[in-house]
Amino acid sequence: MELAVPKSKTSKSKRDKRRTHDKLKLLNIVECPRCHSKKVLHRVCPNCGYYSENEIIVFEDKGKKKEKKEADK
Ligand SMILES: [Zn+2]
Repeated sequence: MELAVPKSKTSKSKRDKRRTHDKLKLLNIVECPRCHSKKVLHRVCPNCGYYSENEIIVFEDKGKKKEKKEADK
C-alpha cells in the first residue's frame, strides 16, 4: 500500500485561508439576573446554579455539586 502524498505544496494563500477559522472568539460574559455575578451567556450560572428560573445545579454542604433530576421541577 502506498501512503497518500500531496502532489504539490500548499500555497501561502491556501494555507492562510484555511487558518482563518482557527481563531478563538471571546466568551460573552453577562451578569446573572439572579445573583448578579458574572457568567457566560447561555450557560448555567456557576454561582447560584440557575438558568432562567430553573434551578439546574443544587449545591450541597461540602461544596459538592449535584445535577437536579427532571422530575424535581
Ligand atoms: Zn447566579
